[in-house]
Amino acid sequence: MSQIKKIDPKNTETINFGALKIVIERDATSVTYTFDGDVDENFRHAEVPRFGANQINFVLERVNNFNSVGIREWVYLIRDLSALGSLCFKRCSVTMVDQINMVPDSLGNGVVESFYAPYACDEHGETSRLIVTKDHAKGIEGNIAPEMTCEHCNEKLVFDALEDAYFMFVVGNISKAS
Ligand SMILES: [Zn+2]
Repeated sequence: MSQIKKIDPKNTETINFGALKIVIERDATSVTYTFDGDVDENFRHAEVPRFGANQINFVLERVNNFNSVGIREWVYLIRDLSALGSLCFKRCSVTMVDQINMVPDSLGNGVVESFYAPYACDEHGETSRLIVTKDHAKGIEGNIAPEMTCEHCNEKLVFDALEDAYFMFVVGNISKAS
């Protein structure tokens, strides 16, 4: 029997807070919160609906900026959602990774499935690369950035942050994921 998956518009909602947009999508087994913009004093965690699910995903590649008020709100939201399911952080922006490293509570019970890391080419300047945590767990745990090449000249890219500091969050993360 074939089944056509119905897309129910009621299962998607969007909330705006100043320069931040949050899109929430739900299906039978998961809920996904996609953040786009700045997590700052306009963000109010209490106005974000909490949906429980086996897996609660966060898509964070468009998180631009955090300030101290925003991060406090963020931690409250994550604390509540941690009680409702397993949190999975996907495609974390460089800003998001910096934030997680500064405030480990930013992750709640969650794990980082994938994240961006800053690289640079001598010739072509700064860029970033998506790293899937489990594919590079060993190297990252030893604070060694995965090797990446420039898409323009094929030369090896230089990792453009302090490895010990940037990969700090991964250590606790990998043991939680396994
Ligand atoms: Zn290059």
